[in-house]
Amino acid sequence: MKLHVLPAGPIQTNAYLLLSPEQGEAILIDAPGDVWAEVAERLAQEKCRLTELWLTHGHWDHTQGGAEVIRKSKARVSAHADDRALIETPEIMERFMGEQLNLEPIHVDRWLKPGERLKALGLDVEVRHVPGHCPGNVLFYFPAAGAAFVGDALFAGSVGRTDLPGGDFKMLERSIREQIYTLPADTKVFPGHGPVTTVKVEKASNPFVSG
Ligand SMILES: [Zn+2]
Ligand SMILES: [Zn+2]
Repeated sequence: MKLHVLPAGPIQTNAYLLLSPEQGEAILIDAPGDVWAEVAERLAQEKCRLTELWLTHGHWDHTQGGAEVIRKSKARVSAHADDRALIETPEIMERFMGEQLNLEPIHVDRWLKPGERLKALGLDVEVRHVPGHCPGNVLFYFPAAGAAFVGDALFAGSVGRTDLPGGDFKMLERSIREQIYTLPADTKVFPGHGPVTTVKVEKASNPFVSG
């Protein structure tokens, strides 16, 4: 599996493009604004087709480029139903952001369940529910790759903000302790913003949620 980190959009949200050139397929985790051009270039280079778009949560900075990605690739979309309103009626976020973002709704093909096992690019993937930053935040854990894509639940040396609608710090703390810190210590944690970290490092030194 090849991994490209593609930060995009007005607040540099990480999109993660996972490719399997052997199978000619690729998966995109999150779709910040205008990410498609970069994705298309990598797909062409590796001769891969984008088959899946997985959303870690419904915030606009992770979904803004989604409608274009789907139009261009016909990828199947998966997300957690607790963020259904944000994904299907994204204009509600413009109200609380106080900004005109011209967000397009996204049609979700599959609603993910906590603990669900997915198969992608020949690999097993476990879905874990990590609410607190946003009610529908999920993480995608690839045991064979030792990698978890966690959205905005946990960052290198920080945690997701909990002051937006549906945010709850106590819930976030519990999600991090029970769903992220229970992953193997060497698991690489790929967050929605900023650099990669590991479970071990955050458990030992995260100033907001100790291990
Ligand atoms: Zn967010
Ligand atoms: Zn974000």
